[in-house]
Amino acid sequence: MSEVAVIGAGPAGALAAGLLARAGLAVTLIDPRPEGFRIGEGLPPAARPLLQALGLLPLGGTLPGHGTLSAWGSDDLGVYDHIGGPYGPGWILDRARFDDGLRRWACEGGAVLRIARLVGAAPRGDEALELRLDDGTLLVPAFAIDASGRPAVLAHRLGATRTCIDALVATYIRCRPGVPGDRDTRVLVEAAAYGWWYTVRVPSGERVVALLRDHAPGSSSARAEFESQLRSTRFVAATLAAHAYQPLEAPRGADARTGRLSHVFGDRWLAVGDAAFSVDPLSSQGLVDALLTADAAAKAVVAALDGDRGRLPAYGEHACRLYERYLEHRSATYARERRWPDAPFWQRRHGPP
Ligand SMILES: Cc1cc2nc3c(=O)[nH]c(=O)nc-3n(C[C@H](O)[C@H](O)[C@H](O)COP(=O)(O)OP(=O)(O)OC[C@H]3O[C@@H](n4cnc5c(N)ncnc54)[C@H](O)[C@@H]3O)c2cc1C
Repeated sequence: MSEVAVIGAGPAGALAAGLLARAGLAVTLIDPRPEGFRIGEGLPPAARPLLQALGLLPLGGTLPGHGTLSAWGSDDLGVYDHIGGPYGPGWILDRARFDDGLRRWACEGGAVLRIARLVGAAPRGDEALELRLDDGTLLVPAFAIDASGRPAVLAHRLGATRTCIDALVATYIRCRPGVPGDRDTRVLVEAAAYGWWYTVRVPSGERVVALLRDHAPGSSSARAEFESQLRSTRFVAATLAAHAYQPLEAPRGADARTGRLSHVFGDRWLAVGDAAFSVDPLSSQGLVDALLTADAAAKAVVAALDGDRGRLPAYGEHACRLYERYLEHRSATYARERRWPDAPFWQRRHGPP
């Protein structure tokens, strides 16, 4: 019998699975075959102590993340460099490679990766859970971790609900340079009346360009509208023009809402990473929170399976503190942009969360 099933092999699930396997538990890590390109490429310097402690440094195939250029609260571009910070530079990741590396690390530690999707879950008596996979398998683990990202597929099936405080969506493209020589590895952020943009050069040499705005039901997210708004940016458009970047594909969308589960643990389960709570990409905090919650969760699960169930509420409080701290940071960051007091996007962010 698998003692622990981990649903989702993104960064949070892979880290939790690797730690639990190394603690001597039988772990099954479940994920449908992962997609190729993934958005979410900036890993801030604050991840360094944990990655160091886990022996995961150096990270291969990355660019150094030296900081941010930001047109936020002002028409001028501010420079925020990591050089003065305690941990040195962060990283710009190839997300597919980073996620694959963590998954490999989990399997090297003894976790068994199963290519499947969770489609059903229910308690089985007081001692176990029943998990149904889309390949027809029934697993009966003593404990399960929901690491399925924002959908939180296990937690929802076990009765938790998700509350979001905004309707943020990302629309993004990848672009390839027509003229070589772009060496900038800083993230460029530019606010607009209707939302905000970022662009960053990723290890493949391409640039990711993303627009974050609130989803308006019924509105079109047509390519023409995205491209015309992109052309009207000052700094992002100039950065792309300087190296003749051309889009590789039509714009894609991603859920970027801030939200959390009603409860992040139950008798035989807990949630980690985006499944527990999700943050605005502006914070660049999603990956660090995913790794921190996975690390804390692995310790709580080992203790709970050893009879110390008090570690589960302590984990819940830890996740709650991380989320509350993020909410304060979110409010303070949006409060610094006051150029469009009548614009609904900014008005929605200037009141209490
Ligand atoms: C536009 C955008 C930009 C971002 N930029 C950054 C950034 O620069 N820096 C940063 O730190 N964070 C960023 N993030 C956030 C970051 O990507 C997430 O916080 C991070 O991926 C969370 O990791 P996770 O392991 O919790 O979830 P995920 O990475 O979402 O992994 C969840 C896994 O669960 C699997 N899964 C889903 N359903 C099932 C199922 N039914 N059965 C089994 N498996 C399932 C999925 O296939 C996936 O592999 C960004 C997010 C967005 C939307």
